[in-house]
Amino acid sequence: MPAPTTTQIPGFRGNVIAPDHDGYDDARAVWNGTVDRRPRLIARCSGTADVAAAVRFARDLDLEIAVRGGGHNVAGTAVCDDGLVVDLSAMRAVSVDPVERIAHVQGGALWGDLDHETQAHGLATTGGIVSHTGVGGVSLGGGVGWLMRKHGLTLDNVVEAEVVTAEGEIIRASADDHPDLFWALRGGGGNFGVVSSFRFALHPVGPTVMAGPVFWAAEDTTDVLRFYREFAAGAPDELGTIVRLGTIPPLSSVGEELRFRPAIAVASCYAGPIEDGEHAVRELREFGTPLLDLVGPALYVDHQSGIDHTVPHGWHYYWKATDLTGLSDEVIDVVAERAYAAVSPRSYAAMFHLGGAVARAPRDATAYPARDVDHNIIIDAVWLPEEDDPVGAAEMAWARGFLDALQPHRAGVYVNFLDADDDPSRVREAYGDDTYRRLAEVKAKYDPENVFHNNKNIPPGKPAR
Ligand SMILES: Cc1cc2nc3c(=O)[nH]c(=O)nc-3n(C[C@H](O)[C@H](O)[C@H](O)COP(=O)(O)OP(=O)(O)OC[C@H]3O[C@@H](n4cnc5c(N)ncnc54)[C@H](O)[C@@H]3O)c2cc1C
Repeated sequence: MPAPTTTQIPGFRGNVIAPDHDGYDDARAVWNGTVDRRPRLIARCSGTADVAAAVRFARDLDLEIAVRGGGHNVAGTAVCDDGLVVDLSAMRAVSVDPVERIAHVQGGALWGDLDHETQAHGLATTGGIVSHTGVGGVSLGGGVGWLMRKHGLTLDNVVEAEVVTAEGEIIRASADDHPDLFWALRGGGGNFGVVSSFRFALHPVGPTVMAGPVFWAAEDTTDVLRFYREFAAGAPDELGTIVRLGTIPPLSSVGEELRFRPAIAVASCYAGPIEDGEHAVRELREFGTPLLDLVGPALYVDHQSGIDHTVPHGWHYYWKATDLTGLSDEVIDVVAERAYAAVSPRSYAAMFHLGGAVARAPRDATAYPARDVDHNIIIDAVWLPEEDDPVGAAEMAWARGFLDALQPHRAGVYVNFLDADDDPSRVREAYGDDTYRRLAEVKAKYDPENVFHNNKNIPPGKPAR
C-alpha cells in the first residue's frame, strides 16, 4: 500500500510525517537509542481532534497504532514498525488554576513543562525525576518521584482525563464519569485509550527545597545501606530519598577527581520548610565519611532537572527492575556485590523509597496495587552507541545477572520499569491477579479488539457486564 499523505487523514490539522519526510528519522527516534522502528506514518497531533482523527484513520486502514507521549519508555513502545504513531509531542501545553490548585496538562507534556508552570505558583505534583520524561507514560503507569511519600504517586493526583477511545470517540474519565475507566487509567498504562489531557491536583512545594545527594565511596556501600535502612524507616513523609549506586556522574558541581569514581549516593528532597529539611537530613549527612555532599537549598525545578544530562536521548539503555521484599542484610549484600560490576561507568542501579502517602492509599482505589512495597530497584545498563560491541552485551548481562541474584527477594515490579525483553508474564506480576483481571475486564469494555497493544499489554478479558 502506498504511504498515505496528509490529505488522507480526514480532519487532521497537525503534521503528518512519512518516510520520505526530511524529519522522519528525528520523529521516529525515541529516548532509547537501541530502538529503531520504522512507522508508516507519524501523525503529530495538534490537539484532541487530531488524536481522534488519527485513531479513526488508523482503524479504517487497519494500521498498527503506537502512542507517543514523552517517548521515554525504555521498551520503545512509543513507536511501531509499519504502523501509525499517534504522536503527542506537539501537545505540551500546561495551564494552572492556582486557586483550585489544579493543572490542566496536554498528553504530550514533559515533566519540565509541568514543573515550570506549576512552580510559577509555588505548586507541584509528584512527577518523574528527569525533566525530559513524559507526563503521559509516567502518570498512566504510576509515577514515583521525590514528592510521592508526601503527596502520593503521580496517578494518585490525576483527577480527570480526556480520553480518545479505540473508536475515536472523545470521553472524560473521572470519579463521576466513566469511573471504571478512570480506575483503570491510573496504573493500567496506555491500554485503554489515548489521554489527550489530564487534570492534576497540585500542592504547595518550594520553590526552594532542601535537596541533593550525599556520596560515599563504593567500599562503604554495606555500611551506608545498613544505616540508610534505619534512616529511611524513620523518615518523615516530606523526605523523599533515592539511593543511586554506580559512579559519580560528571555533574557541573563535581570536581574532575571525583567524576566516574564508584560511589553510593543517597539523594533527597524535602517537601517542606528548609529548616525542617535541614533537620531531616542531618543524620544522613553526618554518617561515615562522605566523598561529597551536595545537599542544600535548591530550586525545585533545578532539582527536578539536575540529572537530565546523565541520561540523554540517543544513548543505549537496557533495564531490569523489581520491587523488593525489604532491605534485609541479604539484599544489601547482593546490591553491594553486584552494583559496581558493570563495565560502563554510565550504568547504575537506583532504589526508590516508597511508603508514606503511597502506602496509605487504598490498594483497590487505583490500578496500582503495590502499595505495601517499601523499596524498588531499577538496574539501568547505559552505554554509548559507539560502544555497542562489546560493551552493550556485557551491560545487558550485568543487568540480568543482578536481577537474577535478587530472585529470592523479589516482590512484583513497577510496570513502567519493564523493558522490551521482559516476559509478558511480568505485566501480570506488576498488577497481581486481582487487579490484572479487573483491568482485563475494563479493557474488554473500552478496547475489545486490543487496538492499543503497543504497550505493557493487558489483553481484553471476560467482557464486563
Ligand atoms: C530518563 C528516565 C527517567 C525516568 N524517571 C522516572 C521517574 O522518576 N518516575 C517514574 O515513575 N518513572 C520514571 N521513568 C519511567 C517512565 O515512567 C516510563 O518510561 C514512561 O513510560 C515514560 O513515559 P513517556 O510518556 O515519556 O513514554 P512513551 O514512550 O511516550 O510512552 C510509553 C507508553 O505510555 C503510553 N502513553 C504515553 N503517553 C500516553 C498518553 N498521553 N495517552 C495514552 N497512552 C500514553 C503509551 O502506551 C506508550 O507506549 C523514567 C524513564 C526514563 C527514560
